[in-house]
Amino acid sequence: MDLVPFQDLMARTYGARDRSRGRDATVAWLAEEVGELARASRKGTATDQLHELADVLAWLASLAEQLGLSLADAADRYAAGCPRCGTIPCACP
Ligand SMILES: [Zn+2]
Repeated sequence: MDLVPFQDLMARTYGARDRSRGRDATVAWLAEEVGELARASRKGTATDQLHELADVLAWLASLAEQLGLSLADAADRYAAGCPRCGTIPCACP
């Protein structure tokens, strides 16, 4: 699924509830999910890892929505490769 429809889907599914909790709560949930992803990447199964990747992405989309920003626009930062050296693969020292 592309980022634009995914962010829209998350906004329609959880947007009202997430907005009422506010940005700070969303950042806290995102951080908690990143922690769970870190654990899954060390000792989880591929199913666990996919689950945690999805949860991180969902909370990231929620935060982007509350900031009035687009995850797709954020991804564009890397559209031409490394934003620092401008090459693929990165040639930074
Ligand atoms: Zn680079």
